[in-house]
Amino acid sequence: MTLADAAEELVRLGTDFHRRSWMLGTSGNLSVVLARDPLRVAITASSIDKGRMHPRQILEIDNQGVMMRAAEGKPSAETLLHLEVIRSIGAGAVMHTHSVWTTVLSDYHHANGGFHIEGYEMLKGLEGVHTHEHREWIPVLDNNQDMSILAAQAQELFAAHSNIHGLLVRRHGMYTWGKDLATAARHVEILEFLMEAVGRRQMMEPQFS
Ligand SMILES: [Zn+2]
Repeated sequence: MTLADAAEELVRLGTDFHRRSWMLGTSGNLSVVLARDPLRVAITASSIDKGRMHPRQILEIDNQGVMMRAAEGKPSAETLLHLEVIRSIGAGAVMHTHSVWTTVLSDYHHANGGFHIEGYEMLKGLEGVHTHEHREWIPVLDNNQDMSILAAQAQELFAAHSNIHGLLVRRHGMYTWGKDLATAARHVEILEFLMEAVGRRQMMEPQFS
């Protein structure tokens, strides 16, 4: 994938996710692998308004998050976590959203380290899942402004749970990924649906712990 193609796709996805309230204001970031060896990644620049994105705001970075060519803006601190997901899981694309439901559920379930989603037909939209009886673990990491700490925690998490499709950061949002851009974007839709369904269902029968 060329940087120009990646930029067009990331702008399209970011604009769509903004419209659906998953990346409001300057929140969230999206990335896609351009080449593996050496690693080159296209990623949204820091602090850009997701409702007014432009292809010039998509940066090309290397495996350390260093910009490879001039562009508008600089890489977000959250770039480190994108690179960790790409390295640890071998993901081809990483999506980070800040929706209301992922924020609420990450807060509610943080004390337990996460929660399971099971029994929902929509789980079949996750790569490798073929039945609604699947039990998906959604881990919750504590939020931290030091992204190197968060990236190290994610690395430990991936070593222990290689089959997860996403993770939450407490009172912050969600990271999900996929082998390519289409799969990662689908995982955003599926997980955001599931989070809202689980959150709304839970509100009908509050389980205060
Ligand atoms: Zn964020």
